[in-house]
This record gives sequence, C-alpha cells and structure tokens, in this order.
Amino acid sequence: MPKVLPEHAMSLILWFRSPRYVLTLFLAIMLVLAASLSWLSWRLLKQDRALESQRIQERLDNAADLITASLLRKFSESKDQFTSLLALSDSDLAMRASDLSGQGAGTALIVVFRPQAVDAYPRATLLYYPFLPTAKEPLASLFEAGEVAEFQQRDFAKAITVFRELSHSKDPAIRAGALLRLGRNLRKAQQSRAALDIYDELDQMGATQVGALPAELIARHARCTLLDEMKRTAEVKREAGLLYADLHNGRWKLDRGAYRFYAQEASRWYTPDAELQAHEQDGVPTATAVELLWEAWQRMRRGEDIAAGQRSVWILGRSVLLVWQTNSDRLVALVAGPRYLEQQWLSVLRPLMDRQSVRLALIDAEGHPVLAQFSATPPRQAVRNSAETQLPWTLHVVSRDPMAELTQQGNRRRLLLLAFTLVATFVLAGSYFIARAVTRELEVVRLQSDFVSAVSHEFRTPLASLRQLSELLSDGRVPSETRRQEYYEGLRRASERLYRLVESLLDFGRMQAGARQYRFELLEMESLFLSVVEEFAEEAGERGYRVDIAQQGHLPRVQADREALARALWNLLDNAVKYSPQNKTVKAEATCENGQVAIRVCDKGLGIAPHEQKQIFKKFVRAASADAAGAKGTGLGLTMVEHIVAAHGGQVRVDSEPGVGSTFTIILPSAKE
Ligand code: ADP
Repeated sequence: MPKVLPEHAMSLILWFRSPRYVLTLFLAIMLVLAASLSWLSWRLLKQDRALESQRIQERLDNAADLITASLLRKFSESKDQFTSLLALSDSDLAMRASDLSGQGAGTALIVVFRPQAVDAYPRATLLYYPFLPTAKEPLASLFEAGEVAEFQQRDFAKAITVFRELSHSKDPAIRAGALLRLGRNLRKAQQSRAALDIYDELDQMGATQVGALPAELIARHARCTLLDEMKRTAEVKREAGLLYADLHNGRWKLDRGAYRFYAQEASRWYTPDAELQAHEQDGVPTATAVELLWEAWQRMRRGEDIAAGQRSVWILGRSVLLVWQTNSDRLVALVAGPRYLEQQWLSVLRPLMDRQSVRLALIDAEGHPVLAQFSATPPRQAVRNSAETQLPWTLHVVSRDPMAELTQQGNRRRLLLLAFTLVATFVLAGSYFIARAVTRELEVVRLQSDFVSAVSHEFRTPLASLRQLSELLSDGRVPSETRRQEYYEGLRRASERLYRLVESLLDFGRMQAGARQYRFELLEMESLFLSVVEEFAEEAGERGYRVDIAQQGHLPRVQADREALARALWNLLDNAVKYSPQNKTVKAEATCENGQVAIRVCDKGLGIAPHEQKQIFKKFVRAASADAAGAKGTGLGLTMVEHIVAAHGGQVRVDSEPGVGSTFTIILPSAKE
C-alpha cells in the first residue's frame, strides 16, 4: 500500500509547486537585490569619501615636501654665498654684500661684524647700530677759555669772540666743536639770525664728529630748536620732517640712544606719515635683531661655538629671519623680514602652490605666524615640524579653498546617489511590472482552471440525466406511457440544456474572435420578452423557483437579433435563480423608459460586493459570494450579455447589495420608425 503523506506536508509540497511560490521567490530575490544595491552604494560612497580625503592629503604632503626642499636649498645657497663672502677682502665684501641684499620692498640686510666694527648693506638702511667705534675727542682744553666765559662769567660776547676765533681752525674737529659752541652763545646773546648762519655752516660739515655725533645732525637739530624759539612754525615743521626722514633712512651711523633721542625730538615738531611709520616698524625689529647678532658675535669671540646657523625671531610683533656664517674674525649675517622671504625665496614656489591649489603658513618656534594666518584650524593640512626639517619654522600646508573641495565632494556624492536612486527605481519599477504581469498570468491560469472544472460540471449534469433516462427507456423498464412521455420530455430538456451550453461556448468563441454575426430585424419586444421569460419560468418552476413577470404598457419595437437577445435575457434569468439559494422568487420586468426599452431581472439573492460589480463583466471573473455559496459557473455569461447588448447599441447596468439582492437592467434603444 502506498504510503500517504500527512495533510499539512502535502499542502506544503503543493505550495512549493504553485505559481504563487514562483512569485514569492521572485519578490524575495528582488528584495535581496535591492538590499545588496543599497549596501553596495553605501560602501561605495564611503570608499569614495576616503579616497578623496587620501587624494587631498597626498597633494598637501607632496606640496609640503617640495616647499621644504626648496627652502632648505635656499638656506644652503645662502650659507655657500656667505662662506665665499668671508673669504673676500673688506672692499670686495662690501660690494658683494650689497649685491646679495636684494632690491625693492623685499630687501634684506647683510650685516658684517668685525672685532671693532659693524657694517650693514645696503648702506643707510639700518636705523641704529649695536656698536660704534668711539671718535677721538678734540682737546677739551682748547674750548676751556670760552666755556669759562660762557658758564661762569656769563659773558656771552667774550665767549663768542673766543669760539669765532677757534672756528677758523684748519682741524675740522676743532672747527666743528667751535661752531657748535659759537652758535649756542649767539643764541644765548639773543642773536638768533647769526646763530642760524653758524648752524648752517656746521651743517655743511656733514659727518664730522662732534662729541661722537655727526656735525650735520647736531646742526640740524639745533636749527629746529632755534626756529621753534623764533616761532617760525612752518619752517620748524619742514626741517623737522626732513630730519625725521633722514634719521629713518639711516643717513647717519648712530647708536640706539642717539637714534631714539633725535627721533623723539624730531617728532615734537613733526608727525610722521604712514609710510615713514611703517618704515620704522620694519626698521626697529631689524635693528634689534642686529643687536642680538652682535651679542652672539661677542659671545663667539669669548669662545662660544655659534659658527653658523639660522633662526626666526619675533621682535615687536614682527618676525625676523637671521642666517649667519662666521670665521675667526668676521661674522656675516642676513637679516630679513617676511616680505623678503616671500619675494626672494617663496616666489619661485608660487606656480607650484597655484597648481596644487595650496596655501602655506610658516610658524616660528614660539608659535608666531611668520607667513599667512589661519583663522580656524583647517580640516586637513600637511605639517612639517622644524625639528624634522631643520628649518627655523614649522610648515603648515593647507588647501587653498577647502570649501570648494567640500562642495566638489558633495556634488560627486549627490551624483552617485542619483545614479543609485535611478538604478534602484528601475529595479523596483521593473520588479513591480514583472510582479504585476506574473500575478495576472497566475490569475488567468487560475480562472482557466476554474473554467475547465466549471464547464465539465455544467456538462456532467445533463449528460448524467441523458444517460440515465436513455438507459431506462432502452431497457424497456418504463411500463407506463405517461411516464415514458415524461422521460422523453426529460431527455429533450437535457439535450436542450447541453445544446444551449455548447451554443453559448461557441458563441463566446466567435465573439472573442470578433466573428459573431448578428441578424437584426424589427422585433416586437413584448412577445420576445414574454416568450423567453415564460419558457424560463417553466424550467425554473421544476427547480422550485417562481418567476414574477411584470410587463407594463406597450413597448416600442427594437432592431434586434432575436436569438442573441433571447440568450442575453436567459443568462440574466439563469444567474438570478442560480445566485438566489434562499429566496426562490425572482422578478422579470419590461418597461418603456424615455422612449427606450428597459428589461430588468431582480432577485433577492447573494448580491455582489461593490468592488466586484465592474469586474464580473470580464471573462472568467466570478464574484467571491458565488464561490463561497458553491454555485457553479463559467464566468462567461455576463461577458456575453454585455457583448450582445453593446452590439444592439444598448447597455447593461447592475445594482446590487451583498446579502440583499441584485437587479440587472438591459437598456435598448427603440427602432426608428
Ligand atoms: P457565471 O454565472 O457562469 O459564473 P456570469 O458571467 O454569468 O458567470 O456571472 C459572473 C459572476 O457574477 C457570477 O459568478 C456571480 O458571482 C456574479 N453574478 C451574476 N449574476 C448575479 C446575481 N444575480 N446575483 C449575484 N451574483 C451574480
């Protein structure tokens, strides 16, 4: 005996074989595909971001390395130049040093220290010197007589005579000293004009030292003081302005004290313009840096080892670069501001920085910004520490426009996302359409299989009666004539039913192929309606149904195909009976409405759900209520009714409520007389 599987196992096997399984599998695959696609896009986006960051970092690192190499090269070049400078004679060195210092706004200072001298190139650019050789003082005793008259006797006339005498001396130092004292006494003697002339004379003596200061400087300062006393304001201002400018242009070699004193004096009468102020702001740090170097030079001379080097120092809010090289009796140094650095050293790097789209910042050992400043810490930067590069600064290389990079990155991400969304949309839309097509196919398959079983069932009933009745008759087992007549009648009805069934199937086939021919003729609707309904009522009566016929007034005539119209009406009546298992009375009614013929078939049966009322006119479609009630049918009847009525220029309507009943109405236009 074959082994029988349990029921739930069987249903599981059947489910796996069913088309629904294929659909579920397909949807599952699509779901996995969509999930993989999302995961893939997420990964890709992440990877893209990482790659982009890496690319930017590489660019910054590359630029930082190139800049470092270039700066190191510059340092080694300077040192080589200084080494060759140290080997030169004093006069050659002066010439070469001037060449090396550069020109224009980015000028650097070359300072040469010797044991008892400091020189700066280009000349007249250093505001004050850390060391000046002491000038030989003219013999003080020469002026003693005049000074006794001036200070003790307060006899200015006598003093004037003495100093005027001395001012004719051949020795410029004596002459300058005498002129200074002569001017002073004339001033005291209220001879201002004469004093001015004497100071003019002293002015002509230029760099001749008077008390370790240039005669010219002393004369010009004295003139300013005198003019101020004489209330010649405009002249004081002009002369003080010139004095101030010359002081700041380094006209005289001064020490820090003298420079400060005279600069302050000049600014009593004159307010320097922005350009001069800027010059001082650059000049004072430079001069201070030279003082630092001088101290180093002194230490070196005491035996400390500071042979060569480079440093970035921060003085009064300015950064100053110092590069120096020494031998036993000289020290040569470059003293440069950030502008020199930018113009002479970094300008060659501009094209590279533009190409790589980077910016550079140099930060000194104490964290001061030597070049460029960052308002906020940039997201990405390449840093080269001074400890590893041996440069006097830490290099920071950042992107020139990090915002643009972010936007660019954002744009690419958006584009990628868009592409993924498009692909995902295509996949989803494709799956939707495929799923819909598959569902429809499945529905058709289901409907067709239902149809086959329904048709078989429809055939079975009349065939069974045919077989049974004909067997009884042929065996001669029906003795009574009346009974025999009844059986013959039964045979007729069964074959009639079969005939109608086959005819309607053939008719349906012709309709589907568009080959159904209608033979229209002018018909009296009353007789057609009554004959069909009465014939149906007789047949239904045998099944226990009652058909109420209501026909009111005269019906207009209609151009119609008798046979087709009869079939349509029969179908409606047949459905009314078939789907009314409880209430066994149906009603058929024909009226004239608005000049049209309205044929109504009403029942109080199962009714049809609203959402199905349109669907039931499609082929093979059957309402859920019909299936639930176990009523058999092919789902073709209403399709044919609609086809036939439409061919007559009319329409079919349905009014139905589940559990209450249905009314099907055929509206036919009346024939034109
Ligand atoms: P069939 O009756 O052979 O199934 P039809 O095309 O005639 O096919 O009808 C389609 C469906 O419409 C039926 O299966 C049934 O569900 C529904 N239907 C038709 N007429 C009625 C009615 N009078 N009452 C309830 N349901 C009906």
